[in-house]
Amino acid sequence: MAAPARLKSTLALVTGGGSGIGRAVCQRLAQEGASVAVVDLSIDSANDTLRRLARDAPGQDHVALAADVSRSESVRALMEQIQSRFLAPPRVAVNSAGITRDEFLLRLSEEAFDSVLNVNLKGTFLITQAVAQSIVTSGQDGGSIINMGSIVGKVGNLGQGNYAASKAGVEGLTKTAAKELAKFGICCNTILPGFIATPMTEKVPQKVLDKFAGMIPLGRLGRPEDVADVCAFLATEDSKYITGASIEVTGGLFL
Ligand code: NAD
Repeated sequence: MAAPARLKSTLALVTGGGSGIGRAVCQRLAQEGASVAVVDLSIDSANDTLRRLARDAPGQDHVALAADVSRSESVRALMEQIQSRFLAPPRVAVNSAGITRDEFLLRLSEEAFDSVLNVNLKGTFLITQAVAQSIVTSGQDGGSIINMGSIVGKVGNLGQGNYAASKAGVEGLTKTAAKELAKFGICCNTILPGFIATPMTEKVPQKVLDKFAGMIPLGRLGRPEDVADVCAFLATEDSKYITGASIEVTGGLFL
């Protein structure tokens, strides 16, 4: 049975939409009736997602756009392209763009620290601010901003000091945004995925994957669709009284 179209006539912007969780989010929101702006550093990946949306959700106005979320001029150009195409701000924004540069603290370079913070935290800030500004400027309140944190931001992980710091930062940023933007009817929430099988985790050795799977009470690694389902909930009116929340999607890992 088809899912109810809870996001009909809604424009959703998804960063990192060309891969993994971001791609699954684009597909899930489109299934809910949204028009999706698929944003990625790689236009080829974004176009690949766009082709899937055109196949699965034809008749809706989707677009693929290249942007580097860590650069303010790129984010500005992105928002101008969206405004001129849709003549309206996105009402849903999902910050899924993210990178890892794993290294133990004693060897972690300043460059690897900065690059992860720049994409994961500064990128989330720039998009959150730009989308909120576009909603406020439109004079029509209301929206949902969903940021991808990580369970690693809460519990840490060997070799991921930069990543953990960036994701803890995303949670603090999102809780502050929730407080500041509530008066404009904009809800801001963080999703904390656990271990989700995507291109990001492809490099992880099978031995480690098996170890994690064995630690997960629900007995399996997560799938991008597990996160996308929660995203769809946070994007719709079904979650209208939830803001500033951090929702763990971990199968119970680290409970
Ligand atoms: P992924 O590598 O499959 O996808 C990330 C996407 O972000 C890629 O398409 C990449 O091109 C894009 N991207 C990277 N830098 C960018 C930039 N500067 N500007 C725009 N786009 C950029 O990763 P994923 O597993 O789908 O992860 C998605 C999000 O979920 C990330 O924020 C990640 O930290 C978070 N997360 C993932 C897991 C997991 O286990 N996979 C767990 C917790 C949190």
